[in-house]
Amino acid sequence: MKTFLEDKNLPEYRQQQMRTAWFDPSIKNWEQVTTLPKEARQILSKSEPWSSLKLSSLQQSKTALKALFELSDGKKIESVLMINPKGDWTACLSSEVGCAMACDFCATGTMGFIRDLSSDEVSDQLRYWRQYLHENEEISGRVSNIVMMGMGEPLNNYEPVRDAIIDFIEYMEIGKTKITLSTVGVKRGMEQILTDPLWPDVRVAISLHYPDQKKRVEHMPVANQRSLEELKDWCLRYLKQYGNRKHHITFEYLMLEGKNDTQKDVRDLAKFLKGIDRYKINLIPWNEVDNLNYNRASRKRTEGFQEALQKRGIRSTIRKSLGREIDGGCGQLAVKEGEVAKNTEETKDDGLISIGFK
Ligand code: SF4
Repeated sequence: MKTFLEDKNLPEYRQQQMRTAWFDPSIKNWEQVTTLPKEARQILSKSEPWSSLKLSSLQQSKTALKALFELSDGKKIESVLMINPKGDWTACLSSEVGCAMACDFCATGTMGFIRDLSSDEVSDQLRYWRQYLHENEEISGRVSNIVMMGMGEPLNNYEPVRDAIIDFIEYMEIGKTKITLSTVGVKRGMEQILTDPLWPDVRVAISLHYPDQKKRVEHMPVANQRSLEELKDWCLRYLKQYGNRKHHITFEYLMLEGKNDTQKDVRDLAKFLKGIDRYKINLIPWNEVDNLNYNRASRKRTEGFQEALQKRGIRSTIRKSLGREIDGGCGQLAVKEGEVAKNTEETKDDGLISIGFK
């Protein structure tokens, strides 16, 4: 729809009417947009799809749902809806098909980069979930939070993701502090956040995972373009610009047995955090992936890590693991179903069950 509105150069009030209707979960097609003249509705019905996504499959548990969507060119993406502590729902959205960042603990990383999503394709994931909850009245709660933590690195697809987020805030009554964009730390996009006057100032989470530069380079190639030292410098500049009582940086930390959960890692993490105020740390259980060289750290190890941090005055939260029964991590479902092979010419379906993390 974004392209349509740009091409047609419609008056502002018409654009508002169309966008308002498009984000209304009770409206299912252009014919139902009664704020528009009948002729316009007929033209739109023929020329403009109501959604860019076609549902391929839906997996459901009591606490999470995962959708696999087909895009207009046949590529596939995933999106997850998870219950949150307040009994409402958090939508986890994808920003790209595949991902160029190649983090070695992540299914999506094994796919390689295929293409960016348009802002409509980002928005349509959220529109789907809102409509789903609207139609399934037996499911209580609403989408109260959005996390850009699905397939892809959102800051590598900066403008479409930013524009979708701007629309979420304007048309879905979701506050800025309820939206989190997660990044592994790409240089260009992070600088854009600090200089772009249109940046919507939502929360930022950084996928840290390895607080030692050498290990980070080994497992997260993005560390070649932005060292931990530079990442820390960015955090300080970000907090100076945006930090306030409600605004902090979240550091995501996957608990990977024997890889990043030792006492040395506690020391490295404490060293990295020194001087950064207003942060939160999420310790995240890793969902097992057969073909990747990782093990999920046990609950005991994770709690031990948390205690060691606490002794250094560093508070952290252990994230509840949701959706394991529905292949909850990003990329897991697509790869499991062999969709990677459909998404790329050169990749063969190797039956890999995998997962992506932010
Ligand atoms: S963790 Fe995120 S950035 Fe890294 S490969 Fe996976 S999707 Fe890309």
